[in-house]
Amino acid sequence: MISLALLGTAGWPGGHRRRSGIASLVEVAGVRVLVDAGVGVVRQLAHIGLSVGDIDIVVLTHLHDDHTAGLPALLTFRHTMRRGPLTLIGPPGTTALRDGVLAYMSANTAIRGQEGRLLDPAALFEAHDVEPGIIHSDAGFTVTAVENSHYGLTEFASPQKSYALRFDAPDRSVVFTGDTGESRAVEDLARGADILISEMVTDDDIAAVPPPVQAHMRAEHLSPTQVGRLAAAAGVGTVVLSHYTDASPDDLAAINREFSGALIAGEDLMRF
Ligand SMILES: [Zn+2]
Repeated sequence: MISLALLGTAGWPGGHRRRSGIASLVEVAGVRVLVDAGVGVVRQLAHIGLSVGDIDIVVLTHLHDDHTAGLPALLTFRHTMRRGPLTLIGPPGTTALRDGVLAYMSANTAIRGQEGRLLDPAALFEAHDVEPGIIHSDAGFTVTAVENSHYGLTEFASPQKSYALRFDAPDRSVVFTGDTGESRAVEDLARGADILISEMVTDDDIAAVPPPVQAHMRAEHLSPTQVGRLAAAAGVGTVVLSHYTDASPDDLAAINREFSGALIAGEDLMRF
């Protein structure tokens, strides 16, 4: 049984008055997978009764800081608390990110290591840079990644890769758009999924950023109408919004004009 918890639903760098940074927890076949690790993720885990040591795998959709800023806290606290190995999986650059976190941890490790009780952190945190395809398979579930359209369409072009993810188990399938613009690959990935966790950018969000960023926001994120079209074209059961600022009645109506299935405006700590 796949169960899902939204730990943080606030996209964009910086803080949100009510939401924590982007992170979700997928529990399936006895494995706890953290999808993205935005700022505040350690506290959000505590809110649902888990500690940093209770995560088995972290999968990163992409390496923007609103999806990774909580990773240093997760890893260093886990190391200090002497919990076991953790696997990081993500697009190319994930191993380098892990190495950067280890560098950040080095002072703490040197200090606490004098107590003679810390393991070598490099041995605890295995990292895998993965290409699109099946990026993880376990007894009872698989995780598939496709490259979405979050990078490369505007002057913010990047050689990096950004992924959408699909979790399949016998009872349920869950798809994360990650951060993306319109994408045939994401539509194909989401085909027939029970739950689509989708990002959304509204006109208010676009108006709030400097003009040079607005083209990126329009082309490399999803408007409410585009969320609805994606969900309808893919034939998903339920859309859960995450990675958004606010959803006005007009925004939700725009989705519903395209998509007649269930629509939930996600909030931190919701479970599905
Ligand atoms: Zn983001």
